[in-house]
Amino acid sequence: MLSDIAFDKLFIGGEWVDPIDGGVRDSIDPATGQHWTQVAYGGAKDIDRAVAAARTAFEGPWRKMPPWERAALMRKFADLYATQVDALARIESQDNGRAIRESRGDIGLHANYYHWFASLADKLGGRTIPMDDSVHAFTTRHPVGVVGAITPWNVPMMAAAWKLGPALAAGCTVVLKPAESTPASSLALAKLFEEAGFPAGVVNIVPGDGAVAGARLVAHPDVAKISFTGEGSTAKTILKTGADTLTRCTFELGGKAPHIIFADADLENALNAATGSAWALCGQSCALGSRVLVERPIYDKVVEAFRERAGRVRVGMPLDPATHMGPQAHAQQLDKTLSYVAIGQNEGAELVAGGKRIDRDGLSGGYFVEPTVFASVNSGMRIAQEEIFGPVAALIPFEGEEEAIAIANSTPYGLASGLWTGDTGRAHRVAARIEAGMVWVNTYRYIRWSTPYGGVKQSGWGRENGIEGLEPFLETKTTIISTTGKFPDPFV
Ligand code: NDP
Repeated sequence: MLSDIAFDKLFIGGEWVDPIDGGVRDSIDPATGQHWTQVAYGGAKDIDRAVAAARTAFEGPWRKMPPWERAALMRKFADLYATQVDALARIESQDNGRAIRESRGDIGLHANYYHWFASLADKLGGRTIPMDDSVHAFTTRHPVGVVGAITPWNVPMMAAAWKLGPALAAGCTVVLKPAESTPASSLALAKLFEEAGFPAGVVNIVPGDGAVAGARLVAHPDVAKISFTGEGSTAKTILKTGADTLTRCTFELGGKAPHIIFADADLENALNAATGSAWALCGQSCALGSRVLVERPIYDKVVEAFRERAGRVRVGMPLDPATHMGPQAHAQQLDKTLSYVAIGQNEGAELVAGGKRIDRDGLSGGYFVEPTVFASVNSGMRIAQEEIFGPVAALIPFEGEEEAIAIANSTPYGLASGLWTGDTGRAHRVAARIEAGMVWVNTYRYIRWSTPYGGVKQSGWGRENGIEGLEPFLETKTTIISTTGKFPDPFV
């Protein structure tokens, strides 16, 4: 089904169309540095077309469709999605370099997101509000309208599921703008919406440059809401662009998650989670535990375990099922990661493992970098404060709960966090005081459709997933009806 996809077309109003003021460009395979397919990108006029199609669908078939029928379409799409996990995973891995074993695992969960949100579509009732006898007051819930969904390059399919699931369940229509460097899997998604029989214009997919297509989507007066995942600096630009239209925004932004290991933890499991999280997606995920906070008595042991395990990571071609870690997704990200290795060394951190671009066995054309470990890191260093988005673990020693909490809360970010301890009381004490949208205790990166996900501080606004993930796509209307029909003359 996904073998004959036209990546060089946009999907607008239920049709595969050529860009009007965009074009077609090479998409680079980050494992080779060579182009692997041609992808379309849209310009401002293409976004205008897509928003018009989404508006027409919103006013027409989608608004009129009973919610249980909307849900049935979503389930059909989810079932189709489940049959195409392998194909979608291959496209995504080729486009952004993620190891296929990870892509399959992640994309293999997504049908659940669509099913779960579909199950909520016909349950979005309001409430009645106790009043005096003269009126009856109640609320109803309504879709906000056309949603602009803007997604990043590291997890295009996951970000799409987190936005399309709740938006469609709420009754919104969508223009999805994936990142220009990894649009292929999102275009493949369009094929599944088409196959599932969604009315034309309900979902439109328009890759394009952020500064052109993204900016137009944000500024468009017919777009009611932007659901954005990406960098904080882009979110600030979006806020300014959307100021004139007062466009509602939710933001899933960066992170610098603290992964705290107390001396009383089950160390083997803690290490499995901490090392896995440091190098998953080649370090390119917002929730990864890039800061590993280790209690002093076990610090040296943990440093040695990280060093040893870094040597066990199989870095290789993304489509090889044996590969643990693929390349960085694009050349700029590789440069950024290597620049932070230099920054860490200049700051006086001890490079314990990795730190170099890989130049061997046919990997030299790609953006491969070694799994990297820094020890003797203090929380003031830039490698402990700034999001690197590469496979770089910064191991920071601490003494006791108070210092662990202080270090954990010392960055501008507050997305995810984790802690490992054998003491239940400590788990509660520390979890309650970490400034983050999520705390995992004795586990890590357990993320599901039903659990709200999002950040505090500069990690974002709002939540995705869970019941909370639907709220931003809905407006509440309050209706108050007189039971008497009488209204006194105010001027007697
Ligand atoms: P960017 O902010 O660079 O880009 C994200 C999206 O925004 C892309 O589609 C981009 O388009 C678009 N964009 C860029 N400029 C504008 C603009 N002026 N107006 C509208 N849209 C624009 O982020 P990255 O793609 O680099 O993604 C990495 C970031 O995402 C990291 O900081 C990471 O932590 C964060 N992230 C957060 C997650 C979370 O759930 N909290 C999950 C995953 C990632 P284009 O690429 O074409 O320029």
